[in-house]
Amino acid sequence: MKIPVIGITCGEDSQADQLILKNYYVKAVEAAGGCPVLVPVVFKEDIRGRYRDLIDGLILSGGVDVDPEFFGEEPEPGLGEITPNRDMFEIALVKELFPLEKPIMAICRGTQLLNIALGGSIYQDIHAYYKKCLKHMQQAPKWYPTHWVDILTGAKLGKILDRSRLRVNSFHHQAIKLPAPGFNVAALATDGIIEAIEAPDHPFALGVQWHPECSWETDRASFQLFQAFIEACTGK
Ligand code: MN
Repeated sequence: MKIPVIGITCGEDSQADQLILKNYYVKAVEAAGGCPVLVPVVFKEDIRGRYRDLIDGLILSGGVDVDPEFFGEEPEPGLGEITPNRDMFEIALVKELFPLEKPIMAICRGTQLLNIALGGSIYQDIHAYYKKCLKHMQQAPKWYPTHWVDILTGAKLGKILDRSRLRVNSFHHQAIKLPAPGFNVAALATDGIIEAIEAPDHPFALGVQWHPECSWETDRASFQLFQAFIEACTGK
């Protein structure tokens, strides 16, 4: 079986001119049988197209907030750091990859980015909208799950994980508001915050608000997500 090439997008520290990516992603992809390739922001359309052709699947990694300009809103006080070049690059790449039916797994910021790129919206800061939400920015080890997530009946996510509830880690202050056309809510936290979205008619387009890459070694469900994604990338 051919080993699939898995693109992983990177964050950036523009001050220091450095790329940012937790090694967790690379390790999880390798453990699940994929060949990790880091995908930095590039500016030329034809170079981006080369990445699009090269990769068998894409992981939209976590990171800072998405510029609300890309979903038609003005910045609110709760908005954090933004990296507009990364936003523009990833949005363009998603718009090209999604119709090609190449698998996309989105994590945390990646989920928000995926949703925005395909026409959905997000809460810039959940605390401004949910007065009584759970603690979604945990102060616990990254691998440690701190809140429950309920998977919606019929969601592909439930089939992948073969369960209807799971505990997840949580490091976000933004969340999906309206899923993009063609996407459904796949999981909710107990406070009603959307924790996963998926496109039922796409081979694999899944976004989770939690960080399975931090817990693939200790949590079976986290590793199952990577396994299902890599399997989809082999074209089976
Ligand atoms: Mn959460």
